[in-house]
Amino acid sequence: MVFIHHKHYSNKFLSSKKDKITLRRPFIAANWKMNKTIPETREFLKEFVLLAEDATDVDIAVAPPFTSLSAAAESVKGTNIKIAAQDIFYEEKGAFTGEISPAMILDCGCSHVIIGHSERRQYFNETDEVINKKVKAAKNNGVGVIFCIGESLAERESGKTFDVLKMEIEKGLENIGGDNIVVAYEPVWAIGTGRTAAPSQAQEAHAYIKDRLRVLYGNKADENRIIYGGSVTPENVDSLMACEDVDGALVGGASLNAESFARIIKFKKIKK
Ligand code: PEP
Repeated sequence: MVFIHHKHYSNKFLSSKKDKITLRRPFIAANWKMNKTIPETREFLKEFVLLAEDATDVDIAVAPPFTSLSAAAESVKGTNIKIAAQDIFYEEKGAFTGEISPAMILDCGCSHVIIGHSERRQYFNETDEVINKKVKAAKNNGVGVIFCIGESLAERESGKTFDVLKMEIEKGLENIGGDNIVVAYEPVWAIGTGRTAAPSQAQEAHAYIKDRLRVLYGNKADENRIIYGGSVTPENVDSLMACEDVDGALVGGASLNAESFARIIKFKKIKK
């Protein structure tokens, strides 16, 4: 597969390594998607809690399916591991069969929610407008947001990556303050495909996203973490985390095994 390379995007404001260290703790989240029953959730977390005990310089979140949220929250009680939902609906309550409100996920012990995942955009027709309403609803209820954006392969190959990211940020975050928002850059072509973005591709996209956030939030944007998602594994996490503007990871497949996810949260800092 041949990728068209964008002209190198360099961050005008030049965020420094020092910024990354002082302002942004790494944030690494597991997205289990439609995997794991309640017993499987408990079994995973029993093992993972022990493995993660000494990982004190990273924020960790696990996003199981709705049905396992309460069991997961119970399993991580007294640890630093946070629980996230994979979606919410934007209304508070009412006749919306099958939907789950922000208050309901809080009730289950969640502190975070993933919004705008490409699988929701692709299979459930979620538009930027719907995603914007969901982000607003989460924030109004004090739920931290993992806001997902990313281009498809066709969009990358036709040189539209930055246009897509710009649009998704502008529409998804319209009239929304930047606090409590983690942006997940997830190139659709890298999700579940085993094809990871090269560190240089991730860095370039993250630098661009950072600039767009600065347009919205000014210098406060330096506090927003931008995490990478797309076939992150124990083998590639160290080189991705070495990128200046990569503040963490959203991990699908490799988060389903406790040892593998533990290795990812314990990424090794590579000196450049
Ligand atoms: C994801 O679902 O957010 C994801 C990045 O999946 P994977 O790690 O399996 O590519």
